[in-house]
Amino acid sequence: MNKTFLSKSRYCQCVQCEKILWLNEYCSNGSAVEDNEAIFETGRKVGELAKGLFGDYEDVKYDKRSNMIKKTDDLLQNKPNIITEASFSFDNNFCSVDILKNDVDGVEIYEVKSSTKVKDIYIDDVAYQYFVLSNVGLNVKKACIVYINNEYVRNGDLDMTQLFKIDDLTAEVLEKQDEIRNNIYMINELMETYDENNEPVKEIGRFCFDPYLCDFWDYCTRDLPKPNVFDISGMQTKSKFKQYNEGNISFEDLANEKLNKKYLEQIDFELNEREPKIVNEAVKDVLDSLNYPLYFIDYESCNFAIPEFDGTKPYQQIPFQYSLHIINENGEVEHREFLAEADDTNIIRHFAESMIEDMPEDGSVIVYNKAFEATRNKEIGKMYPDLNDEMERFNSNMVDLMIPFRNRDYYTKEMKGSYSIKYVLPALYPNDPDLDYTQLSGVHNGGEASNAFLNLKNQTLEEQQKTRNDLLKYCELDTWAMVKIWEKFKEVLI
Ligand code: SF4
Repeated sequence: MNKTFLSKSRYCQCVQCEKILWLNEYCSNGSAVEDNEAIFETGRKVGELAKGLFGDYEDVKYDKRSNMIKKTDDLLQNKPNIITEASFSFDNNFCSVDILKNDVDGVEIYEVKSSTKVKDIYIDDVAYQYFVLSNVGLNVKKACIVYINNEYVRNGDLDMTQLFKIDDLTAEVLEKQDEIRNNIYMINELMETYDENNEPVKEIGRFCFDPYLCDFWDYCTRDLPKPNVFDISGMQTKSKFKQYNEGNISFEDLANEKLNKKYLEQIDFELNEREPKIVNEAVKDVLDSLNYPLYFIDYESCNFAIPEFDGTKPYQQIPFQYSLHIINENGEVEHREFLAEADDTNIIRHFAESMIEDMPEDGSVIVYNKAFEATRNKEIGKMYPDLNDEMERFNSNMVDLMIPFRNRDYYTKEMKGSYSIKYVLPALYPNDPDLDYTQLSGVHNGGEASNAFLNLKNQTLEEQQKTRNDLLKYCELDTWAMVKIWEKFKEVLI
């Protein structure tokens, strides 16, 4: 039997579903791979930093696999030492170990993750490394995961021993060795049995979402009726598969099932092309709660796995931009905005000070999804006690435009069960090019905004100019969209 080449990541994909390997080999155009550049970059930065966790180390540079294995062989002779990216191969099963402690009586494996908790799939990852290393004849004394401690608060220089946590997984890893041997055998058999013209049959299941949404989900569900149970907004994956496994797949199948009222409403609206539902009282409640001047505001934020600023934790949301539309009682509209400089080391303070200057009066602070902005304000108040009163003022004046949509007091079939502004806006203003996020250049959603800001430092001045412009345009549309929702509220009450 020809042995299939496996790496750590290919092995872990097969643990999720062995068909992924076949699809990657013969049907890569069926994959909807998302742009994960920012996640890779975070992982790369964390990995680089962690290399120094145990002091001086010798690095095996990325190269041809055979060269990396040869270099590792040489470095293993210098024990005791720390080797990063030490590379090994057994029977076409290859792995590079993030950090290898190489002692006279054996080695210790340290796998670095940029996550803040140990996921089950990490145990498979480390167990696979243990399998390879022990089979090339090394005595593996310990196998561990290094991950991020999200309770760490930076204060001055980074404290590596506080930033990283280490869990010893040796016992769990040992228990998995037979399973790994069996899995590798099964993978080899599958790749031997099925060729390009012979696709393995595999029914979808919850594993398609666990530990990650499979890139081939659209491909594997291409023959399901549209819309189907997987299009129900807010329903748990577990419940969706329960219905699916009982044969309730299309909205027609589901219409007479005992489901949550909201799910049935979504199905009914889409299936029967219902007219919009608007509870005037709920809309009136929002309008009656407003006080002029109206401050329509939206924040953009980014986060760093490795905290960049004093007083912040790993992955803490750092607000770096806002857009503000102000409407005065006489109907006058003003627009203000803030976008931090990429090299600003005091982003949060400058953000807050600018906001205080732009919203001096006790008008309503109007947001879409209050939890996000209110939480950022609380964090700012905690970081800067001298600004706390102002942050509390904003929070006590906050009005959430999302409420009537979330409560289904304002609902149309086009919202498809969602109350996200990205569904609500086109439902209220179909085909309006001025409110169409797809018409924007470069930045179309919060994730792209965050990535664009984090990437500014790597850009030329000219590129920065363009990115900053894209960011400003995107955020401005977010608050203009809120103004338009407010106008729609007034319109429906006429
Ligand atoms: S979508 Fe599900 S069944 Fe299809 S390859 Fe991915 S994990 Fe396997």
